Amino acid sequence: MSKNEKTLRQGIIDACRWMNSSGLNQGTSGNISARFENAMLISPSGIPYDQLHPEDIAKLPFKGAYGAYEGPHKPSSEWRFHLDIMLARPEVGAIVHTHSTYATVLAMAHKEIPACHYMIAASGGPNIRCAGYATYGTKELSELALKALDGRTCCLLANHGMIATGADLEKAKWLAVELETIAKQYYMTLTIGGPVILPDAEIAHVIERFKDYGPKPKTNKAEAA
Ligand code: 13P
Ligand code: ZN
Repeated sequence: MSKNEKTLRQGIIDACRWMNSSGLNQGTSGNISARFENAMLISPSGIPYDQLHPEDIAKLPFKGAYGAYEGPHKPSSEWRFHLDIMLARPEVGAIVHTHSTYATVLAMAHKEIPACHYMIAASGGPNIRCAGYATYGTKELSELALKALDGRTCCLLANHGMIATGADLEKAKWLAVELETIAKQYYMTLTIGGPVILPDAEIAHVIERFKDYGPKPKTNKAEAA
């Protein structure tokens, strides 16, 4: 295993541990993947994150039999939507799936999040859709998630949780926090009569400004100088 691959595998493990220690997720729920060359690296299924080592991360090549994997453990049960998103969306380098509380509460009510705050623009559009319900780990769930992600960077999953994507792990983690935050804020506004919704034109304006906002991929300082 190359040094770069080992570092990325450790990055997935660190992100899984952060997801739980930050309160964004709990137990063995949720899963995280990252693109590496012509394959996807993903957390294994049902193993507590504090027990993971880089070699425990599963690897699914993009070419060859769908679902074939390398590694000592089964990949996350949600490998289908992780893989299908990476195949359909070349700009996606990492995916965070969590059962974070407020996003999940809205998803349990099948409520999409409207333009209640300008940060909705981080989703790439004026709303964060809620994908219809399908059993966890199924191709049907993957298809519903891809549909909800059309033109968006994140979505809710009915009666389940959320998906946040990004160019790399840092960006996907950032978006997961922003999604959980707007979900919480929207939920709270619903208790005082609901939010005032921002116009689509304003969200389009913020989307433009966001092209240069949020965590950037790390550059080599010597190269950047
Ligand atoms: P895994 O442990 O298989 O990744 O499953 C957790 C989960 O969130 C399923 O939706
Ligand atoms: Zn899940």
